[in-house]
Formats: sequence, structure tokens, C-alpha cells
Amino acid sequence: MLKKIEGIVIRTVDYGETNKILTLYTRETGKVGVMARGAKKPKSRLSAISQLFVYGQYLFQHTSGLGGLNQGEIIDSFRSIRNDLFLTSYAAYAAELVDKLTEERKPNPYLFEMLYQVLHALDEEKDPEVVLFIFELKMLRVAGITPQLDRCANCGLNEGRFHFSVSEGGLLCHRCLSVDPYQIPMTKRTSELLHLFAHIDLSRLGNISLKAETKKEIRHILNLYFDAYSGLYLKSKRFLDQLDRFNLE
Ligand SMILES: [Zn+2]
Repeated sequence: MLKKIEGIVIRTVDYGETNKILTLYTRETGKVGVMARGAKKPKSRLSAISQLFVYGQYLFQHTSGLGGLNQGEIIDSFRSIRNDLFLTSYAAYAAELVDKLTEERKPNPYLFEMLYQVLHALDEEKDPEVVLFIFELKMLRVAGITPQLDRCANCGLNEGRFHFSVSEGGLLCHRCLSVDPYQIPMTKRTSELLHLFAHIDLSRLGNISLKAETKKEIRHILNLYFDAYSGLYLKSKRFLDQLDRFNLE
């Protein structure tokens, strides 16, 4: 049966001389693999639609195995991302995160929308680090490991200054600091931003400008939290961290 589905290419693997296997994240069906025969040939009608991060309508053979891609139509190719190495790396991380946190054919329209929003925001040249903070916090929710960011994770106190505790899974108030000897001090601004980023809708993100130290603090906390709870090792993330260090030097 031929099926027409809206999707975003989150992974491509070359197959043989001329073919590509695409992993699409689709609105209706979740993650699906399709075989794009001949897509590596520049003149193929499947070539443009088979590029990473393309958002399009895909018409393919819907079978229990790997269906063949019949044709497609681009809705948005996110050109600015494609033309920029840094933006490409951020988008690659977002796509890999979706890939790793999902199983085949489990629909999640919310996640599809999130992925679209993240690509759209990067393409519109919103601050890519902030875009990723927001996306990561949403993905933690998808993975069921969302940190406690509106009150102390240990006693529930919801005012005052907080530190962050990876082992307690969120904020730690001044009374509870002894609970975790590895708690991470952070500025009030950082704890407010973590809370904001966990709740804000990416599509409503304006032009926000953060100090480099604030971003560094948030990045550090999210990295430690992700490493501790997600159980994921993402190649695209390592590459991004290397780029970050390169940027700072
Ligand atoms: Zn407390």
C-alpha cells in the first residue's frame, strides 16, 4: 500500500553505490525507515528529498519491513542550517537525540512538532545554544527523566537561592545542601532560566541574549544531568562539545 506521510529526515545511510536508507520522523507514524533507490545520483528525483533535515511529504510503500520511497515533495529544506557547519552540528544533535529516544512506528505528534520547531528556530538563526537547552529539557520530559526545577527536589521549598543536584534530580535549597556533597552552585539567573526553558514553547522564543558564563553554567548542568540519566552516548554531541571548546579558544 502506498502511503503519503509528512516527515523529517533524521538519518541517512548510504546503501550500495546509488541508494540511501532514510530514517524519517513522521507526524502520523513516528519513526520509519525507507529505502530511497538511486537517491545518491544527483539527477535522481529522490536526491533532494533524501537530504538530512529535509521536511517534506513522502510517498512510500508501507510494509512491515523497509518500504521503498516512491516520491516526495519538499515543504522546507532549512537552507540556512545546511549552509552553516555550526548550525548543521546543532541540528544533527537534535536529530540524533530524537532517533535514539524513539522506537520505530510509535507515533508522537508532540515530538514531531518539537523537532520541526527546533529546526525552524535554528534556520531562523535564533541562538542555537538556547534552542538546544529548550529542546533538551523537552526531550528529558519525553524520556521520562525530567528534572525538578520549580522547587527543592529534597524538601519542596520553592523560594530562595538554589544549587543544582544531579543525584537528587533537580534544585537543592540552602537547607538541603548537605544532602549532596557534589551539588553545583549556580546563579539565581541560571536556575530561573532552567525553569523557563523547561516550560517555554520553542515557537514563542524571541531574541534572548545570555551572558557567556550563564550559558556555560546551564550547559555544564545539562551535560551532567544527561550523562547521569539518559544512558545515551551521542556522537553528534561529542562533536558539538569539541566545536564549543574550539569556539572558546
Ligand atoms: Zn530543600
